[in-house]
Amino acid sequence: MSMRPVSCEACGTGVLVEKRSLPHTSVQWTGPTDRCPELAGGGARIAGCVRLRASIEREVREGRLTVAHDD
Ligand SMILES: [Zn+2]
Repeated sequence: MSMRPVSCEACGTGVLVEKRSLPHTSVQWTGPTDRCPELAGGGARIAGCVRLRASIEREVREGRLTVAHDD
């Protein structure tokens, strides 16, 4: 497992993120999501609010979040 903690820059909601493949990112909430106005409206079906997704994408771009391999 290579879950990486990422938090939303806007609301501070924390998640653990694992990149299983390039198109598939799994997100696991580590706390309540009701602090984020976007999540409170959309529920946990969406993988984070816009700011959180941007943070996750930046982690990937900068090489801090890499695709998990089975080897
Ligand atoms: Zn947020």
